[in-house]
Amino acid sequence: MNDVLARLRALQAGDLPTHGGSTLAYVYDSGLAEADEIGRQALAMFGATNGLDPTVFPSVREFENDLVTHAARLLHGPPGTVGTVTSGGTESILLAVQAARDSRPEVDRPSLVLPSTAHAAFHKAAHYFGVQVVVVDVDPATFRADPEAMAAACDDTTVLVVASAPSYAHGVIDPVPAIAEAAAARDIRCHVDACIGGWILPYLDDCPDFDFVVPGVTSVSVDLHKYAYTPKGASILLHRTAALRRSQFFAHADWPGYTMLNATTQSTKSGAPVAAAWAVVRHIGDEGYRRLAATAVTATRRLAATADGIDGLTVVAEPATTLFAVRTDERADVFTLADELAARGWFVQPQLAFRGQPPSLHFTISAATAARYDDLVAALTASVVAAQQAGPVQVAPELAQAAQGLDPDTLDDAAFDGLLELAGLSAGGNESGVRLPARMAPVNALLNVAPPRLREALLIAFLDRLMRPAPGPG
Ligand SMILES: *Cc1c(COP(=O)(O)O)cnc(C)c1O
Repeated sequence: MNDVLARLRALQAGDLPTHGGSTLAYVYDSGLAEADEIGRQALAMFGATNGLDPTVFPSVREFENDLVTHAARLLHGPPGTVGTVTSGGTESILLAVQAARDSRPEVDRPSLVLPSTAHAAFHKAAHYFGVQVVVVDVDPATFRADPEAMAAACDDTTVLVVASAPSYAHGVIDPVPAIAEAAAARDIRCHVDACIGGWILPYLDDCPDFDFVVPGVTSVSVDLHKYAYTPKGASILLHRTAALRRSQFFAHADWPGYTMLNATTQSTKSGAPVAAAWAVVRHIGDEGYRRLAATAVTATRRLAATADGIDGLTVVAEPATTLFAVRTDERADVFTLADELAARGWFVQPQLAFRGQPPSLHFTISAATAARYDDLVAALTASVVAAQQAGPVQVAPELAQAAQGLDPDTLDDAAFDGLLELAGLSAGGNESGVRLPARMAPVNALLNVAPPRLREALLIAFLDRLMRPAPGPG
């Protein structure tokens, strides 16, 4: 047993740190050791329970109903608001889209109206559920959705309209009241994706109207495993009424086993993340969350202002909550800047060029990062200088041109092997498979000049090769 645990620790040492505030994407750290400990204990206690049947594990049902009650109160759900605890933001969004589609069986080719900044999870939902996507450009100055253009994009096939509070890439809040009003006027559902802002905004003094306080908003998603700082695997999808949720449920009695009865895409559903979320939310409480939200948002606004003042950096949009993106001028590229920050112990996420917008670097600030504010500013300042000294990565013009002309549908496995090698992602030598180079800037710069469909195809080819069993016995 000790050998196995030692191996776990050894493998964990190779991961990005989940605590300490230096990983500015993927993880959220409250900095509260006791909250983490309670979450860990709850995970261990409930790891074997199964939310598949809420009559057999009433504990899990109670956790879930309590969490939904808390979220409904935070997000101004009127009496009658209902919800479901899911495994994450993507599952909450999948279910919102699926429930909307299945509430309109008479629509032959159902569609979804999205601002161009909506999370990729909506595209995944459309792909899974056979729903058409109508993407509407956002205001190019503010990166907020354009409610008139979205209203004009709705037609008889529209089953759902979406707004973000805030959007992941730029951290701005869409004009929810105008979007929801236009949707309601046509009797179309309106979902607010508050996955990343929904546990922050209600705790701020200057909270805008983004949730069920807005008439016409029919569902809201909010992730617990982001700013409720709970262990991974917990999000909530709220519906304004039980009637709106009905089409989300699935039952199947026509087989020889138990009648399957599910509220989520999962059937067997671990009680562990639900119990852990319940325990952490109860432990931190409203006062705790108010403090954590103020700490993270204050640090974010300060950091964005400081970053915007660094010679060579521009903040893309003023952050509404805890996320923002920066761009570089022609003296450096954001990919080299990301590598320089990584070399100094800070992980930030590059965002590739999109619809004429240049690439950017994404910062998600959690409460634990605020405690290391001065370190982060020093690292950012030094990294900008270093990236400018290195200069931007040059992608050979003939390579960039080739990338723009490649049709991913015409490429076979050998072609992908060649492209991955060209991108610096193949393991090289006698080894098969792929690897990540120490410096990602050349890879990112190449992906950046490729059209989105080629990026997708290349990265799928990469993933396909990355996730293979180790060769040989042992
Ligand atoms: C994180 C996020 C999601 C997706 O959530 P996952 O938990 O990663 O599946 C959706 N929308 C927004 C705005 C997000 O920030």
